[in-house]
Amino acid sequence: MIITCGTLLIEIIHQAEQRHGPKEVFQMQNAIHPEYKQIAATCSCGNVVNVGSTVCKDITLDICGACHPFYTGTQRVVDTGGRIEKFKSRFGALASK
Ligand SMILES: [Zn+2]
Repeated sequence: MIITCGTLLIEIIHQAEQRHGPKEVFQMQNAIHPEYKQIAATCSCGNVVNVGSTVCKDITLDICGACHPFYTGTQRVVDTGGRIEKFKSRFGALASK
């Protein structure tokens, strides 16, 4: 017999049912499974993705598939807090020499 992940799981559940009974096993499965809800993941670009998650609260993302350079194909500099402008104002004169 070839043991796959599925057959192993079925065997484990079968053994547990023999030991505890099917009703108890069902209750045990419910007890160990975390709560799973549909949440809204809001990206900084404004894109909202509705996903299933065990976090059970809405989350914010820095980057998503709609704005990541890998998916858009355009290179974009992510400037956080004007750091690039600050660098240019300090060292722009030195860099242009
Ligand atoms: Zn995005």
